[in-house]
Amino acid sequence: MFSKLTKWLLVIVIFLPVMFLWGYYLSSGAWVSVDTVMAVLQTNISESQEYMSDFMTISDWMGMSVLLVAILFCGYISINLRQKNILRCGSIFLVMFIMMSGYFAYRHRHNIMVDIALQTKVYTEKYKDFENKKVARKEALKNSLLSIENDSTGVYVLVIGESQNRDNMSAYGYQRKTTPWLESIKSDNNFILFENVYSCHTHTVPVLTYALTAKNQYNNLDLAQSISLLEVAEAAGFETVWISNQVKYSAWDTPITVIADEANQQFWHNKNVGEKTATNHYDLKLVESIEKIKMSDKMLIVFHLMGNHGSYRERYPNDFRLFKGSKTLDEYDNSIFYNDFVMKNLFDRVKALPNFKGLVYFADHADAVKQNLGHDASKYVPEMTHVPMYMYFSDAYISEFDKKFDSIINAKESIVTNDLIFNTILSVMDVRVDGVYEEYNDIFSDKYDATAQRFRTLYGKKKIVSERM
Ligand SMILES: [Zn+2]
Repeated sequence: MFSKLTKWLLVIVIFLPVMFLWGYYLSSGAWVSVDTVMAVLQTNISESQEYMSDFMTISDWMGMSVLLVAILFCGYISINLRQKNILRCGSIFLVMFIMMSGYFAYRHRHNIMVDIALQTKVYTEKYKDFENKKVARKEALKNSLLSIENDSTGVYVLVIGESQNRDNMSAYGYQRKTTPWLESIKSDNNFILFENVYSCHTHTVPVLTYALTAKNQYNNLDLAQSISLLEVAEAAGFETVWISNQVKYSAWDTPITVIADEANQQFWHNKNVGEKTATNHYDLKLVESIEKIKMSDKMLIVFHLMGNHGSYRERYPNDFRLFKGSKTLDEYDNSIFYNDFVMKNLFDRVKALPNFKGLVYFADHADAVKQNLGHDASKYVPEMTHVPMYMYFSDAYISEFDKKFDSIINAKESIVTNDLIFNTILSVMDVRVDGVYEEYNDIFSDKYDATAQRFRTLYGKKKIVSERM
């Protein structure tokens, strides 16, 4: 009995990794990569369940089941290999399985399990390092902050959207009327809709790690030394606020949590902690927090929406079922329609704040909705990078920074990846950090390097394909 158990354990240890890799391949049509493993580690269980219910079809589940049975059968054969009454077809099957695994090893020769594990470790260590070097970064900042010559005050608002594809927004030409508010405000003289913005990765944590720090795909900075937007803002005298509908804690503290935790005032609307979590509030709830902010006249207020993340039907109340079909596309478009309503409310509210100067909106990455691929990096298609970005400035801002405002308008069509948001926002707020500011990465600078061929995504792995190139 005992030796049978040991043999089965051995079989599981030998076959499970292969089963996982083949299972992933069968269900997703892509090979496991570091990005997949990191996304799984940073995702909580309910998100994974939503993912599986959204993207796994019945045939995927059947494929997985067949594979499981096959592997159990292989296990049985290998355990009974020495017995005389071994089935001939059984051994043929075993040989086939070994060949399959051989092919797998060949296919993964540059990216086998060990490699994946090692690279994943490198990522987590980098993230840990980012957290540990927090104090050192702040010290360095104290010494390097250029005197902010403005006695300029102002309330600035940054809104981070989630999984939003601009190709599904009518303000960007989509035939369905998904963004009536954005369409109406688009022609306002104080408003700028950016037409050529791409995400620097397809997963939330890698995108925001770069978007909200001095690190980007085009510089050689070490992440741990890269100061964050909130660190700079505070050093420059801004009161910082973080209002989020995303879960604060996932598998471990990601750089986003570290950055957000820096905020002087924090409002976390997704109260779920740890691994067992479900989304509970719609994004409109975040607007209510504005009442609770202790206001001052120099502020950076960041909103982190749940936006258009799958499952799409979980992102909007029934009243927003504009498209009644049950297709993924209908649900996604409804979530875009609701996001437009949230942004209208948020905008009206912050615009009325005393000393409001500007609002910047961008999405972390898009979803490839038409292909039903979500935003999984291992199944990368360029549509996953098609994010929206827009800005609004008050009359007071425009008269104070008239030259800068002209350059902001001129950048409307410039190609940019959202890891350069850090420079963009600091430029909007007129904050410059000595030794950190990169004028060739600031879309509002005349030194901005707009060479289309230089832009990349997936942390440099893929070239950006712009419709305008
Ligand atoms: Zn995301």
